[in-house]
Amino acid sequence: LARKLNQTTYYFDSEVEQHAAQRVTQLTKLRQAIANRDFHIALQPKIEFATNKLASFEALARWTDSEGKMNPPDQFIGLAEQAGIIELLDIQIVELAFAAIIRLQQEGINVPVAINVSIRDLASKHYVEQLKQFPQKFDVSPTFIELEITETEAMKHYDQFIKVLSELKNLGYRVAIDDFGTGYSSLAHITELPAEVLKIDGSFVRNIGKTNSANHVIEMIMRLGNRFNFEVVAEGVETEEQKQLLREMGCHIGQGYLFARPMPLDDVIKWSKTNT
Ligand code: C2E
Ligand code: CA
Ligand code: CA
Ligand code: CA
Repeated sequence: LARKLNQTTYYFDSEVEQHAAQRVTQLTKLRQAIANRDFHIALQPKIEFATNKLASFEALARWTDSEGKMNPPDQFIGLAEQAGIIELLDIQIVELAFAAIIRLQQEGINVPVAINVSIRDLASKHYVEQLKQFPQKFDVSPTFIELEITETEAMKHYDQFIKVLSELKNLGYRVAIDDFGTGYSSLAHITELPAEVLKIDGSFVRNIGKTNSANHVIEMIMRLGNRFNFEVVAEGVETEEQKQLLREMGCHIGQGYLFARPMPLDDVIKWSKTNT
């Protein structure tokens, strides 16, 4: 038995060690990728249901590593956050978004581009300072950039976050609360949020018409949105039926595979010319 236990322990240790080693390797690669500026963005359209017109885009980070492997964001964003380097990555995404807006405008496509902002970004002096300077540096109005912040992060760090976000909003940046419905916003806080957009989390959209709770949450978000003048955007719209139900509930804008997947800038420009 002792021998067996030892073997088990040994096996367990080596697995933990292997996992830790993989993490270290991945983190080393990620740091290198940040230094090399190896990231790009995929742009996903947000569509006005009634007209099928393009309303805006969301920029999503993409990382193809030196071995040509595509790493999805859930494999490197969390890692970058834990390692305290997310703002170094995210500031590059902001630069890419500004560059994309310039290119889109040259092509006659004049819509905002949303970026994802981690709460750690807002805590970073450098990140916030850059956001303040970029509109002049790139000669692009900040009204073309929308900052998406998840509800959970925003509410957990409410006091710290509200000041910085208000500053950015006063500069002209648009602000959206992402994954809305998954957190625990109090009504008092919602009315004070320096944001103009609520994004209904995809988990509710997926269950629309299927579970009462999803329907209730969406109805509640629509009521809040109307009452307090938020624009409400549904994410993860995959079917005509979901779109139809969302429209019936009063939602006007959606994003999801039903309309388009996230695409590289060149594809987005081609897509825009044939789809809007
Ligand atoms: P998110 O901000 O909620 O982004 C929406 C995610 O849903 C994206 O995944 C998008 O590709 C995916 N999606 C879009 N339409 C559909 C659909 O119809 N069905 C389904 N099932 N999924 C859909 P992605 O690109 O893998 O990004 C995952 C998350 O990573 C994002 O969630 C966001 O929280 C984070 N992220 C992405 N880019 C950045 C970034 O530049 N900075 C930071 N801090 N976080 C980022
Ligand atoms: Ca988002
Ligand atoms: Ca989201
Ligand atoms: Ca999300």
